[in-house]
Amino acid sequence: MASLFSSPTSSYRGRLAPSPTGYLHVGHARTFWTAWQRARDAGGALVMRMEDLDPDRSRVEYAQAAMEDLRWLGIRWHEGPDKGGPYAPYVQSQRRDVYLAAWRKLLEGGFIYPCRCSRKDLAAALSAPHESVRGEQDADDELTYPGTCRPAQPTVFTAHEPKGVNWRFRVPDGEAIEFNDLNLGPQRYIAGRDFGDFVVWRRDDVPSYQLACVADDAAMRITEVVRGADLLKSTARQILLNRALGYANPAWFHCRLIVDQHGRRLAKRHDALSLRALRRRGLTPLNILSADLPENI
Ligand code: GLU
Repeated sequence: MASLFSSPTSSYRGRLAPSPTGYLHVGHARTFWTAWQRARDAGGALVMRMEDLDPDRSRVEYAQAAMEDLRWLGIRWHEGPDKGGPYAPYVQSQRRDVYLAAWRKLLEGGFIYPCRCSRKDLAAALSAPHESVRGEQDADDELTYPGTCRPAQPTVFTAHEPKGVNWRFRVPDGEAIEFNDLNLGPQRYIAGRDFGDFVVWRRDDVPSYQLACVADDAAMRITEVVRGADLLKSTARQILLNRALGYANPAWFHCRLIVDQHGRRLAKRHDALSLRALRRRGLTPLNILSADLPENI
């Protein structure tokens, strides 16, 4: 089996995309381990991309801690903020030009419209909209937009810059968005019912997670996205963005989530299950990756 220290021998390109808004926990460890294994088994390249777009919640300490914790687990990557690479920079807060170009393309294609609705919707647009295990929307999922600012017909707007309003992607109501997940099998979501017009750029001038994610996956030539099953519905949104932007879809492998004793997905609020805390308690990477967590720790 090829080591990840050797040069890639195939065209497979995967990525690790932590958001530095807290310490990584056992759920992240399992997902990132899977991403690493799949890249290694394919003889491919693995990219570390720091998703630090949310200026209020991202912290440099968390970004450093994430990379240190993943290295401690035994995960390695070929390209990233610490290593550079052909698609640098690997830190989203430094990639505004890439996102602006994508925004402009959506604008010119008539795919997006300006929206002046409240701040409440905005908060959710920046972070990846995680769902709970039962498929319900978590508090941080993007609410289905009621269409208040949506024009009656698709319209091409003109604007020099995105700042000042929210820009929303007009989803094709009623269309079934289908894809085959390499881990979970066939998936199907209905645009306009399972999710609504979603934000691509916030009025305070920050691109949304959805836009940044597809723009970066395309720019970094990612061929397979490995991430948690709480982002399945985001994949449906991202398929629409890829189509509008003329990007090829990557393959997807969504990992089942680890849940706490109440059946809720682990979040960064579960501090006791952070990799840091577990390591301090003497657990080894093997314990973390193989134990029947969280009950057994
Ligand atoms: N940065 C996102 C998160 O932490 C991951 C997004 C993705 O893998 O597409 O949830």
